Amino acid sequence: MKKEFKAESKRLMELMINSIYTNKEIFLREIISNASDAIDKLHYKSLTDRKIKVKKNDFNIKVDVNKEARTLTISDNGIGMTKEELENNLGTIAKSGSFDFKNENAKKENIDIIGQFGVGFYSAFMVASKVEVISKAFGSEEAYRWSSSGIEGYSITKAEKENYGTDIILTIKEDEEFNQYLEEYTIKNLIKKYSDYITYPIKMELTKSRPKKGKDNEFEEYKEVEVINSLVPLWKRNKKDIKQEDYDTFYSDKFFDYEKPLTQIHTAAEGTIEYNSLIYIPSHAAYDYYSKDYEKGLQLYSNGVLVMEKCADLVPDYFSFIKGVVDSPDLSLNISRETLQQNRVLKTIATNIEKRVKTALLEMQEKNLEDYLKFWQAFGMQIKIGIYNDFGANKDKLQDLLMFYSSKEKKLITLKDYINRNKDYKDIYYACGNSIDQIAMLPQVEAVTDKDKEVLFCTDYVDEFVLKTLMKYEEKEFKNVCSDKIDIDSEEEKEKLNKLNEKSKDMLDLIKDTIAVKEVKFTNKLKNHPVCLTSAGEISVEMEKVMNAMPTNENINAEKILEINEAHPIAKKLEKLYQNDKEALKEYSKVLYAQARLIEGLPIENPTEITNLICDMIAK
Ligand code: ADP
Repeated sequence: MKKEFKAESKRLMELMINSIYTNKEIFLREIISNASDAIDKLHYKSLTDRKIKVKKNDFNIKVDVNKEARTLTISDNGIGMTKEELENNLGTIAKSGSFDFKNENAKKENIDIIGQFGVGFYSAFMVASKVEVISKAFGSEEAYRWSSSGIEGYSITKAEKENYGTDIILTIKEDEEFNQYLEEYTIKNLIKKYSDYITYPIKMELTKSRPKKGKDNEFEEYKEVEVINSLVPLWKRNKKDIKQEDYDTFYSDKFFDYEKPLTQIHTAAEGTIEYNSLIYIPSHAAYDYYSKDYEKGLQLYSNGVLVMEKCADLVPDYFSFIKGVVDSPDLSLNISRETLQQNRVLKTIATNIEKRVKTALLEMQEKNLEDYLKFWQAFGMQIKIGIYNDFGANKDKLQDLLMFYSSKEKKLITLKDYINRNKDYKDIYYACGNSIDQIAMLPQVEAVTDKDKEVLFCTDYVDEFVLKTLMKYEEKEFKNVCSDKIDIDSEEEKEKLNKLNEKSKDMLDLIKDTIAVKEVKFTNKLKNHPVCLTSAGEISVEMEKVMNAMPTNENINAEKILEINEAHPIAKKLEKLYQNDKEALKEYSKVLYAQARLIEGLPIENPTEITNLICDMIAK
């Protein structure tokens, strides 16, 4: 009896049969990796259940080409499938949720998805007009045949099969473009290319030729079984024998990333704890990286047997972007999620991996800045979050990875760069805002950069929290140039200003009471601007903005200071008004304060009043 495919499966199948995706050859990789998974499952079972007796050395995958029958057969002696499993696993797809075929217009995107993730079993329909799966589940007496010629549906019937495991029989499509998949040579190369790291032997019976005995000029054909893959998993091989290309291919196959990683860290540790690890730093963030759905973790193997797909305990949150494999004979196969945290071996490995990732990143920063900037673009936010999370517990570990835009260099630099260049500075100067241009134009910033001082420009909303968490870098404090604590004046200049502020105290107080800020004072640091806004205390104006933009209903207020340019004509004007017309002084103060808030990117609290005042002044 023929059964229909589930709707989503039908759609995917349509895509496959019509072969919009050009890279059809990946079907073999998909089928072989399913076979390897099936063997993994049985292998794992046999190691954890002593009643099951299978020999590791017997495990293998066989690939057989039959030109006459136009079939390509892939057989494994893995766990096999019951009738129900054939039905559930091959009748439906997209249980994993990688595919969303509901949107008709998403076809183009879907093709990209195929490229990125592979599509598993159904990719067989790119090259085959008919697919048969004959399977016998381990421990079962019965075998079944699943068969389908495409979209119309599939059937499941009873079948004969001697041993447990699965045979996948593809009848290759008739068109010429598909004939290559019936060539031993092509298939052999595809196995090498895509499945070399599979840990079970992939065997092929190859046709060879040799001179006939006694007849030098005549040749005869004979068959010989060869193991095509190199068996030892990449991470267990000697670094010297591995090409960069091998590392990259392994990465893209295993972690479904279509872009090359930035670098890999391949470690073979010996000593009290033995392990091999192969860790990659991706070049871009996965689409769900900064969402709740993202799961960090490394693949965990015990002596070549996969124990866990994503072992989260091996990866600290701030390095959650790393991908890779850890294999250790010192780990028990029965290691469970609950015991991981207490596991000494795992803890040691995790500590080592963390150190190596940090070292690799610092090395990249020093020797390959271009790559590091890619890394920073993708994962800098994660590092920043890592600094202020856990009350700054990891800040010392992470601070050297930070990059900030320098007002002088006009590019990203490290804190170390800043310190080394500016040994004479007492502090580290920074300023915050929405964009580099906006920060550069802030009057307070201009005042400092005009004195030829280097300022770090912070444009991420988390930046100031990061610097507040760090507090200091190599004994130098971080100072926001928009706070009143900034100290770049000479003693002379300071004294002159103090005197001026003393003298005008009454007037400044009147302004202060009118606009309700913490303080009003004259400043000598503004060049052209009449006024600017700074802050006292721990909360800066920028932090006020960020925190009030968050969905928690807090009303955060920075302690604001209105600073008036002592050299600006407005200063004289204010003095004059204080003598002659205090009401006008109050109105002018309100307008100046509104102006200072605007420059800082803060809203004006009473826009109608202010615009009316401005209008009155223009009309005068
Ligand atoms: P995926 O491998 O991503 O789960 P596939 O479409 O490739 O998706 O395969 C669907 C399921 O069919 C697999 O998860 C597995 O349970 C089962 N399967 C496929 N091939 C085999 C095989 N050779 N032996 C046992 N089970 C298999």
